[in-house]
Amino acid sequence: MGFLEVSGLAKSYGQTRVFSNINLNIKEGELVTLLGPSGCGKSTLLRCIAGLTDLDQGSISVLGQDITSLVPQKRGIGMVFQSYALFPNLTVAGNIAFGLKMQGLPAQECEQRVADAVALVELQGQENKPVQQLSGGQRQRVALARALVVRPRILLLDEPLSALDARIRKNLQEEIRRIQLQLKLTTIFVTHDQEEAMLLSDRIFLMHGGHIVQHGSAESVYTRPASAFVAGFMGSYNLLGVSQSRALLGLEIKGQLAIRPESIYLVRSGQLGLPELGQQYPATVRHHQLLGNVIRYHLDVEGSSERLMVDELNRSSAYLLPAGAAVSLQFNRQELQEVQ
Ligand code: ADP
Repeated sequence: MGFLEVSGLAKSYGQTRVFSNINLNIKEGELVTLLGPSGCGKSTLLRCIAGLTDLDQGSISVLGQDITSLVPQKRGIGMVFQSYALFPNLTVAGNIAFGLKMQGLPAQECEQRVADAVALVELQGQENKPVQQLSGGQRQRVALARALVVRPRILLLDEPLSALDARIRKNLQEEIRRIQLQLKLTTIFVTHDQEEAMLLSDRIFLMHGGHIVQHGSAESVYTRPASAFVAGFMGSYNLLGVSQSRALLGLEIKGQLAIRPESIYLVRSGQLGLPELGQQYPATVRHHQLLGNVIRYHLDVEGSSERLMVDELNRSSAYLLPAGAAVSLQFNRQELQEVQ
């Protein structure tokens, strides 16, 4: 039995079906992400689990206890939103203490718990500031502390970092994972960003069009995509059709062949290549893109109409291949993935 079990959830708004037959089985202390493009139903699913949105069908249980009909306050769930949803005229401590006061906790225990939560999110010294004076990142720390201070059994985070700039975002991703591991807190994190999902998750549930189309470890979803959609969403896969797979690699497939750009080995003229990868395929560099630490080459392969992308680490500008350079490609056959 899982810690949090979601079975057969369905939700529509009028004629519009948001999702159907959603099943999740989440272990205690696990951090899973619901990942998918905008509008695929992630937030609605999270809100249904929290009890903030009514379900049409299905059940939700925690440790075998059915919580489907419980009001949100009785579910033992903490939630953090992208928009922070703080009380603007309260201080940091006032915001964090709000839920505890509603529970009628004695003042002394309330104070101690707020101090612990403030320390957990590293906001010491800011307790008496009005929240309007805080940066976006600090506000999200307050929202996180406010969700944690009531000691929820489950934490739900709905795109909590989407409004923040890249540097603060990276920093808070690490903080959230540190806190979640420290508290061994069962957590669902909603994001549309596959890098964020890969960085944070024990497991990823990838949603598309109201269904979970694949789930598993970040490694497995990234390297073994079950469909062309997953391959496209998780990374910049090269996708070859039936005739191209046959012409280029002599492979008979039924769907499409997904090849990660970083799994193709680029052999410069005068180099030997990797003996274990075998055959070399002549190709010509068309152009390249700088992706920061990676250079992405776009190449024409001799005898094939497909242009392929190949990624290399950006080791040195002296190593850069100009447009028109003749090279060879080698494919690691274990990394080729057939998808539908
Ligand atoms: P995501 O979080 O993946 O971006 P949402 O769960 O927010 O997706 O939305 C999924 C779909 O449900 C969208 O098409 C959205 O327009 C629709 N939707 C969400 N909330 C409502 C609502 N309150 N009324 C009508 N349609 C809604």
